[in-house]
Amino acid sequence: MGSSNRHIAIIGAGMAGLSCATRLAEAGLATSIYDKGRGPGGRMAARRAEVDGQTVSFDHGTQAFFATHDSFRATVDTWNSAGFVAPWQAAGEGAWVGTPGMNAPLRAMAEPLGVQWGNRVEAITSHDGVWMVANGTGEAQFSDVAIAIPAEQAAVLCAEAAPQLADLAKAVQSDPSWTVMASFAEALPIDGDFHASDDANKAIRRASRNSAKPGRSGFENWVIQASASLSQSILELDADEAAKQVLAVFFAQNGVAPVDPIHLVAHRWRYAFPLVNGPLAKGRQAIWDDAARIGICGDYCVSPDVEGAWLSGRALAEQIILAG
Ligand SMILES: Cc1cc2nc3c(=O)[nH]c(=O)nc-3n(C[C@H](O)[C@H](O)[C@H](O)COP(=O)(O)OP(=O)(O)OC[C@H]3O[C@@H](n4cnc5c(N)ncnc54)[C@H](O)[C@@H]3O)c2cc1C
Repeated sequence: MGSSNRHIAIIGAGMAGLSCATRLAEAGLATSIYDKGRGPGGRMAARRAEVDGQTVSFDHGTQAFFATHDSFRATVDTWNSAGFVAPWQAAGEGAWVGTPGMNAPLRAMAEPLGVQWGNRVEAITSHDGVWMVANGTGEAQFSDVAIAIPAEQAAVLCAEAAPQLADLAKAVQSDPSWTVMASFAEALPIDGDFHASDDANKAIRRASRNSAKPGRSGFENWVIQASASLSQSILELDADEAAKQVLAVFFAQNGVAPVDPIHLVAHRWRYAFPLVNGPLAKGRQAIWDDAARIGICGDYCVSPDVEGAWLSGRALAEQIILAG
């Protein structure tokens, strides 16, 4: 099939989907990109809130990211020059954050690509070598499909049309994360703006003074992520109750007397951190089925972070380009 006859559907416009789409656009291939979210973010989301008459923003997914591979580092350098990211030393040497919110690089990537936001893909089917992609309002035809959504959701979407990919995605399990966004009228007596622990016995995995990141202002804003085990143990609590419990644990873990927040909201990420294992961990950064002309990518194919997602999307794009 000549490249002029190809039209590739990309499902999911998080870092993996947008990385894939950007590379395909560079190669001159036509894409249509669907995302169920209202705007750029995925797990790099930033959420706005009105607090005491002021608009504040919280990075309630990714806190900071690193660029260790040359190709990703070169991309991050261009974002830095354009003002979409800035270094945030508090999270470690070489840490980056989006500016003014974590989703800024995604917004910049999405803008020239024309993402169809608010468009949840409900089903994909294949008829005589043509892919049909259906959302709530209609169907469209494509030559190829790239699926860039979390593994558990990819497994469901592919189950009928691409069971070989669904089986691979099904082997991945993700840890959940209850994440709390809290504002305080006064600075909390806690040293340091970023606290991280990968000790499974610690109930708080990450806590960031969001208001101390570059380009942010406003109240003393914190984003507090419960560990996988705490999140699992309170997974089905309602959000208000989860917020109170996680905040109480945060104060206790830091030896600080509890302070009443002026804003408190929790978000439950059911599929926050994929455990990268199983058949996908065999050095393949993305999986492409050349005969069926469909592939999957995402952080779960490489590493459970922003760089892993970017590398995976890029790797899938290279395979789609090669498929000719
Ligand atoms: C709480 C939390 C903290 C984190 N902290 C860090 C960190 O500090 N550093 C770091 O590097 N990484 C961190 N991560 C991980 C990082 O955010 C992810 O690895 C990365 O963003 C994954 O990108 P992705 O494109 O693979 O998936 P996602 O970002 O999940 O993107 C998938 C997209 O698909 C869309 N979608 C899903 N289903 C459909 C459908 N049926 N139709 C259309 N669209 C659909 C979603 O709306 C979403 O936009 C964190 C994640 C979480 C949740």
